[in-house]
Amino acid sequence: MATVETLSLNTATVRVKWDLRQIIEGCQRHAIRGISPWRDQVAAIGLDETARLIRAAGLTVTGLCRGGMFPAADAEGRRAALEDNRRAVDEAATLGAACLVLVVGGLPPGSKDIAGARAQVRDGIAATLDHARRQGVKLAIEPLHPMYAADRACVNTLGQALDLCDELGEGLGVAVDVYHVWWDPEIERQIARAGRRILAFHVCDWLVPTKDLLLDRGMMGDGVIDIPRLRAAVEAAGYLGMNEVEIFSAETWWKRDPDEVLRLCRKRVVTSV
Ligand code: ZN
Repeated sequence: MATVETLSLNTATVRVKWDLRQIIEGCQRHAIRGISPWRDQVAAIGLDETARLIRAAGLTVTGLCRGGMFPAADAEGRRAALEDNRRAVDEAATLGAACLVLVVGGLPPGSKDIAGARAQVRDGIAATLDHARRQGVKLAIEPLHPMYAADRACVNTLGQALDLCDELGEGLGVAVDVYHVWWDPEIERQIARAGRRILAFHVCDWLVPTKDLLLDRGMMGDGVIDIPRLRAAVEAAGYLGMNEVEIFSAETWWKRDPDEVLRLCRKRVVTSV
């Protein structure tokens, strides 16, 4: 069972009704100690102002969302992706983020070459890693559920992400999001293999039925994922960091009063994580 002090808020959870300034105030009002902002929300109020507000609120930044999206149809596109990832690394450094989360990207438009896309991901991470090491920013590959392989991430299992970590080395780890990996028969073995390379732990729940591939994630406890079992596994592997709640929910939670959502997150992190 997790304590409420372990709760970190991924700002996507309440992004529809609140801007980042309101989200930071909400964290203070609800005594939430961690935050993981999205770059577009940071840009909307300014990077330096975000850093100042987060510092003043005493929040731990459990991650910055997100870098990645490496594959592209041509060299120009790949170069643009690398430049954007360098900027993301710099932003993560300014915010003191525990990691820059990488959603690595899927197939370039018109392509059927998933092996090629995966090779582009490997090369993109390798190229970004030098800069990240210099800046003292850790990169966290987030494997996504295979239903996103075409359009969001062609790294789909924790084992596949760890193979990249093994190959590319220091400064690279993983973000374990229960929504993406809960179904994997290898998951506990791969969590043990990951060990200290687990840089973030994201929680929400898998609803049955799921009505939208992207925007119908559940509140912890409302679905079928045995979250406490996965939390115990990452702790046994050496991850003692926060539980980052990340819920994309267009029809349910994004429509609710964000204060109500945060109150429920505080409860559920204790009862259902
Ligand atoms: Zn996540």
